[in-house]
Amino acid sequence: MIAVLAGGVGAAKFLRGLISVIDPSSITVIGNTADDEEFLGLHVSPDLDTVVYTLADAVDPEAGWGIANDTYTALEQAAQLGQETWFKLGDKDLATHLLRTKLLRSGNTLSQATQAVADAFGVTCRLLPMSDDRVRTIVTTDDGDISFQEYFVRRRQEDEVKALKFEGAEQAQPAPGVLDAIKRASGVIIAPSNPLVSIGPILAVPGIREALVDTDAKVAAVSPIIGGRALKGPAAGMLESLGHESSAAGVAKLYEDMLDVLVLDEEDRVLAPDVEALGITPIVTNTIMRDAARRRALAEATLESIS
Ligand code: GDP
Repeated sequence: MIAVLAGGVGAAKFLRGLISVIDPSSITVIGNTADDEEFLGLHVSPDLDTVVYTLADAVDPEAGWGIANDTYTALEQAAQLGQETWFKLGDKDLATHLLRTKLLRSGNTLSQATQAVADAFGVTCRLLPMSDDRVRTIVTTDDGDISFQEYFVRRRQEDEVKALKFEGAEQAQPAPGVLDAIKRASGVIIAPSNPLVSIGPILAVPGIREALVDTDAKVAAVSPIIGGRALKGPAAGMLESLGHESSAAGVAKLYEDMLDVLVLDEEDRVLAPDVEALGITPIVTNTIMRDAARRRALAEATLESIS
């Protein structure tokens, strides 16, 4: 079994490659839920849903999140009724959040609701939230503390990030199966996701980081930073403003205690010695997943590095 730590879009693309190489039922995905938020009274799990929609081949290919060919009738009507509608929820997407919220309100855990959503979409990977407890990413900006979605969606990642907090993380427990998956895995992969706000909250749940350090399995990460930049999203600026290096070597340093391998892009070949100096094996390959063949090749190279 391969365990994969996953954020949203970057992770989902990687997982899509991975399921073209190995049996999806041999993959356990541990997803970030610190971006979860309630909108229109519904529990939305943006990162888990991006993984499900992508693996089910239902994702909007342009955006990389949401459902393809969705419509926005319900959201338009909600706006008419005076609701806040800055978080874009399509009509089909809303059905997912209705299902999840119904299950949570009737006493199911987030793990159970997540599995039900994955099953409903025919996703056969095992999909675990990092925790069944509420953990919330809070972003400190010049205007004070705001929720992650407020920063990411409403304010379009325009604020400088002064600090990050994962509210509730200290009291949270890993969801059932998370520690066991890391312990029993034949290999662990940290997907190309934002290391601070997608992987960071997973590692902040007590016990998860320790399990990654202790596991006998090899642990590989795929760098989401290429040539000092993120392909999409605020990772590069956030790394810099929080005092980290915005480079593949900077990513290696963040994961140094648990990492055996870092997969970095051809463009960053010059950084391989810096990665090696940290005691981490660098694997240099094309990491831009622009099509199915590239996704598959990256998955194969990553798997080979931990086999
Ligand atoms: P989000 O939660 O939806 O923002 O997604 P993630 O945290 O999973 O992924 C965001 C990161 O994925 C960004 O830092 C991107 O640079 C990275 N990313 C996206 N596509 C690719 C790709 O094709 N290759 C690599 N190496 N990184 C990617």
